[in-house]
Order: sequence, then structure tokens, then C-alpha cells
Amino acid sequence: MSRLVHRNLKRSYPLAVSGAGLELRAGDQRSYLDACGGAAVSCLGHGHPHVIAAMERQLRSVDYVHTSFFSTEAAERLADHLVARAPKGITHVSLVSGGSEAMETALKLARQAAVERGEAGREIVISRRQSYHGNTLGALSVSGNVNRRQLYAPLLFPARFIGPCFAFRYAEPGESLEAYGARAAAELEAAILEAGPDSVLAFVAETVVGATSGAVAAAPGYFRRAREICDRHGVLLILDEVMCGMGRTGTLHACEQEGIAPDLMTIAKGLGAGAAPIGAVLVGARVHDAIAGGSGIYQHGFTYMGHPLAAAAALAVQEVIEREDLIANVTRRGAELAALLDERIGSHRHVGDIRGRGLFIGIEFVADRQTMAPFAPAMKVNRLVQDAAMAEGLMVYAMSGTIDGVSGDHVMLAPPFTIDGAAVEAIVERLTRAVAAAMTPELARSA
Ligand code: PLP
Repeated sequence: MSRLVHRNLKRSYPLAVSGAGLELRAGDQRSYLDACGGAAVSCLGHGHPHVIAAMERQLRSVDYVHTSFFSTEAAERLADHLVARAPKGITHVSLVSGGSEAMETALKLARQAAVERGEAGREIVISRRQSYHGNTLGALSVSGNVNRRQLYAPLLFPARFIGPCFAFRYAEPGESLEAYGARAAAELEAAILEAGPDSVLAFVAETVVGATSGAVAAAPGYFRRAREICDRHGVLLILDEVMCGMGRTGTLHACEQEGIAPDLMTIAKGLGAGAAPIGAVLVGARVHDAIAGGSGIYQHGFTYMGHPLAAAAALAVQEVIEREDLIANVTRRGAELAALLDERIGSHRHVGDIRGRGLFIGIEFVADRQTMAPFAPAMKVNRLVQDAAMAEGLMVYAMSGTIDGVSGDHVMLAPPFTIDGAAVEAIVERLTRAVAAAMTPELARSA
């Protein structure tokens, strides 16, 4: 009997015993294609030798130091690497241990910078419905993920929420994408004006929404407008690229494709590719300089921040991505994957939308393709597809509540940046069989 508090306390989990590239092997000798990198994490697949070697070297030199005593070469080199490739205006980096810590840190940096600038009245954070920014209480407070918030609502701080920018579900019939993007962005300005511009600290958004709605990119122009609105009112723009960043969508940072740069940006999953727990906040000059030119004391910290082992792992991951030009492969294989999915399941009666960017793909299921009506939530269709995929030896990331936190089902694909054409074919073949197995005629009848 397991003594671990598992995610589902009523089921048992197979042991993963080895991983190599795209494949994970379980204790029962079954093997799985990890087509979702767990949760869009393993961007180099499993067990990359360059990363293992860098981690071994790091452990033999310095295993750990507390950041109040020392810095390390590993952390300094990673920070240099990240800043050299960061969006315009980013000058510094804070290294933490994951996405939620990165979001907590970004919120606290935003607040400290405002106070140090003499704007202590800025305390309201605006976020979006259908978003996820982490499970720690601060990050969850600004998350618009209904399911994950519900139980903890009394413990959360009161953020304000505007609608998502999710054209497939929320654009009006006949409305152009540009017009919809402008309408969605106008909600931000209305929320700032309603709160009182001097009281708004930051606007938080995932550049491409991840698990909550399934790889949803904003309509064209949305983020440019959001950037302008933030600037007009002195509000910081915090982009969450924990899931969609570090090459996943075909550019190192997803915001490059939006033509904007944030004041603060969080990254995590693909940063260390799962070899070590790591996240980071990319910090813009405006935020950094307010603190450096004020108290000079960063009023925040974690025991494991700037961890040298995690930093060495992340730097090695980023070196491989750059040396092997893997982001170009993301674009190339992402286009192949999307085209093949479209060909094999795009017209399936229960596939409503195949979307995403690069190797970040969401497939939304519907009960009825004419009306795009979702399945009843109790049918747990996303789980049926995920279970059928596991039976086919394929890992996909499944989620419900795609549309509004309650209705809608999707699965996501986020395979490693290293995949080749044969792997694309294998993933689509298995998923096609899984969709056919899960979407039985009985399911259609009971929808
Ligand atoms: N932000 C986004 C967009 C995420 O997808 C996640 C995790 O899925 C987080 C933040 C939280 O990251 P972590 O689970 O590493 O704490």
C-alpha cells in the first residue's frame, strides 16, 4: 500500500521505471509515448545525456548554497543566458522552483516595486476567467480556474476577473477575430476604470492559455491593446508563460508572436524540461530599478531559490535547444502534427476544434458539431479519451471545464521539441484509435 498522498486517493498509480526520449516505461513493462510531456514539461523527452552530465558535474562542485550567503556560477550563467534572449526591457531574473513560486514572486515583485515608487495604493490585480497561474494561495487567487479555486475560495485574496480571449467560444457569429480581440481587450480597460486606475497593480494573463481551456491563443491585436491599456494606466503587465513559454509555441517566448514585451514574465516547465524543479521570473527594468533604487532589499525569498543543480540542468536544457535548433523543429513538427490531426480526426463528429501553436495543441470535444454543444460534464469525456489513449500506450493531458470551468472537454498534446516525423505519425495513429474507442455510438446517444 502506498504511503504517498496521491492526486486521486482512490486509485493506484503504476510505477514509472525508466524514460528515454519520447518513451516512458512502467513497472509492468508497458511503455507509453509521452505526447504531453507530463504537463507540457519534458521538452527534450526523458533522460537527455547532456543534461544528466551537467547535473552530475554540478553536484560534484557545489550542491547547494543559501542565496543570502553566496551566488553560484550555475545560477549566474543561467540568468545571463535568459536575459540575453529575453523580451525587450527585461534586465534581471529571479530563479525559483516552479510555476506557482514564479507567479507568487511576480506578484510580490509587482507590489514591492509599486510601494517603492510611492504608489502604495496599487493593490488590485486583474486576471481573466478560464486561466490558471498556480496552486499556491497567491497564484490561485489570480487564477480563473473554477475547479481549482472552489474549495479554497475563502482563503484567497480578492482579485478581479475579466473574460478570456477565446474566439472559438466567445466571438459573436460574424464578428471578425480583430473585432473580437478589441472587444475582449476593452474589458480590461473597463475593469481598470471601474477599480480606479491608481488602485490597479497588475494585469495577469497566460500568453497562450494552457490546461484550463486547451492551448487557446488570443485573437490578433488583443495583447497589443492590453499592453497599451496597461501603459496608459501605469498598470504592470505580467505574462504567465509557465506552460506556453521557452519554445513550446515556436518562438522562445510566446509573446514574441504578439509583438509585445511584459514588465514581468514567469517561465517554468520547459525551462528545466523536468530534469529538476525550476521556475523563473524575468524582471523588467521598471520593476527592478524601483527596488534597486529604493530600499535595495528584495522582500521575498525561498530556501531553494537559485538552486545550482536546477540552474545547471536548465542551462543544459537551453543549450541543447539552441545548439540543435529545436525551436525550428517545434514549428516544423507542430505544423505536421496539426495537419495530420486535422486529416485523421478533424472531421470526427465529436471533434469541435483543433487549435494551438507549435507543439502546443488542444483538441476540444463536442457532443454536436452543428451547434458545438459540449457533452454533459458528468460524462467526463476528456477522461474517457485519456483512458483510451493510455490503453493505446499514449499519454495526453486531459481536462474538463474548457468553456467556462464547468462545461467542455479537451485533451492537450505537448510532445518534446525533438520529435521526428515518425513520432508525429505514431502519436496521431494512437490518438485516432483512442478517440474512436472512447467515442462510442452509445456515448453519442447519451450526449
Ligand atoms: N501557470 C501556468 C500557466 C501553468 O500551466 C501552471 C501549471 O500547470 C502554473 C502556473 C503552476 O506551475 P507549477 O505547477 O509548476 O507550480
